[in-house]
Amino acid sequence: MANFLFRVSLDFEWPIGELWKGYSCPYTCRKCEHCNSATVSGSCEFCNGEGYIWESDEIKKLHYAWRPSHPPSGEGFQAWEIEVFDDRGELYEGYPESPVFSTLKELCEWCVVNKITHMDALLSKAQWSGIFSGKPFNCEF
Ligand SMILES: [Zn+2]
Repeated sequence: MANFLFRVSLDFEWPIGELWKGYSCPYTCRKCEHCNSATVSGSCEFCNGEGYIWESDEIKKLHYAWRPSHPPSGEGFQAWEIEVFDDRGELYEGYPESPVFSTLKELCEWCVVNKITHMDALLSKAQWSGIFSGKPFNCEF
């Protein structure tokens, strides 16, 4: 599976298949174990009805102020799998799917040879080239 082109430096190193650290917020909360969906909002004394417990107000602030950071852009071409969890495209995670190549042509060839799928379909070199012709995901929108 691969669905987005990334432009990264030729010596960019992040393990293939491993979630990119810049897309997961390090400031997290945990679900309140004292209430469940049946609880009326505002009635839980442990979480004030929010359903979540934050270690501190500081952590909560950091969480809401946090923004994902893309891998730095560069000269190389790499295929990534990105999963988007909301309509606005603000919640997502992803990982590299291929090595970094110095040309788009090489990347497309690699995808064909390695039977990489896109939406469960095997694509030709020309089709990969089409998929990857848009703006690279990690370059400024
Ligand atoms: Zn609660």
